[in-house]
Amino acid sequence: MFVELLVHGPLSRAETARRLALSPSALTKLTKPLIEGGYLLYQPTEERPALGRPSQPLAVNASRMSLIGVKLTSDEMFAVRTDLRGQIQREVRRELRSHEVDHVVAEIADAVRELSLPVTPPSAVGISLAGTASAGDPIVHTSPFLGWNDVPIGNIVAAATGLPTIVENDVRALTAAQQWFGAGVGRHSFALVTVGAGIGCGLVIGDQVVRSPGRGTGLVGHLAVDNNGPLCEMGHRGCARAYASSAAIQRSIAAALGRPDLTFDQCLALGREQQPAAARVFQEAGRALGRVVATVANITGVELVILSGEAVQMFDVCADAFDAALAEHTHWTSTPVEVVVKPFTFSEWARGAAVAALQYQILGA
Ligand SMILES: [Zn+2]
Repeated sequence: MFVELLVHGPLSRAETARRLALSPSALTKLTKPLIEGGYLLYQPTEERPALGRPSQPLAVNASRMSLIGVKLTSDEMFAVRTDLRGQIQREVRRELRSHEVDHVVAEIADAVRELSLPVTPPSAVGISLAGTASAGDPIVHTSPFLGWNDVPIGNIVAAATGLPTIVENDVRALTAAQQWFGAGVGRHSFALVTVGAGIGCGLVIGDQVVRSPGRGTGLVGHLAVDNNGPLCEMGHRGCARAYASSAAIQRSIAAALGRPDLTFDQCLALGREQQPAAARVFQEAGRALGRVVATVANITGVELVILSGEAVQMFDVCADAFDAALAEHTHWTSTPVEVVVKPFTFSEWARGAAVAALQYQILGA
């Protein structure tokens, strides 16, 4: 009931009871302790002030609890404090001078302290990072960016902060945020495909975020696109990452134009100006992404694919190639999958970690 109101609220009592197939008295029994505890409230409505309280919609009191979300990259720690509905209240950014576990934990604990003041302490900490990690398992099994293998970071941070702590793969954490507070609200199944430093994929099937503790899921980055394409760092020829990661796009355009100094944003500007080499590289990236999304949709049967990530702003430059490849590779018996492009800011990663911590607090793994 709480989750229903958190994700879909505010809802009238009648609508809440209908959605959960509860009698009015059963609903009252369930909501009473949550209202008394300050987790739920009756939202005042301006339109009908004369009506009594029970006809006012029920809503989650978003400020009743707060969460800390932390995103770790190879060179920085980005932490946010959010309310119960995943709204960012404050943020802290710190450079990571070393990947030593003690140093990283000290930075996280320091950020948690800073974000905790001067209000009530947060309820939980979520840490997200690229690599093999899963809420419910405190161990980061592999994190190539940090050079970590089997580091029980969840337990160490919990001990250092005194707060329940989960650690989650960053794309999956972002998927959790989309499921409860983003484009995935109300969808029983969807995929989130991210483009940026890598190509990632998170899945929600049957209202559940798909997890495989100790193993990765949605590992689409090295999916073969073309046997004659560019090489990725793992030696694959023509994998999705070799075409569509921001580093690969930058490398291809810089090499074609003999300008190794070009940044990704400058490459994107050249693509928008239809500079021929840049436009071609973005078209090939779009084609690779279209193929990845078609493959994900073919295998999972999801009703929606959300495209996001640090490099998602390139989508307008490669949308035609993406659409053509998606249509070409979608199975001929399938209805075309709906695609939504979601603008991205870097704080979304840390926000995702906070929502993953919230989900774990409420639902368990
Ligand atoms: Zn590869």
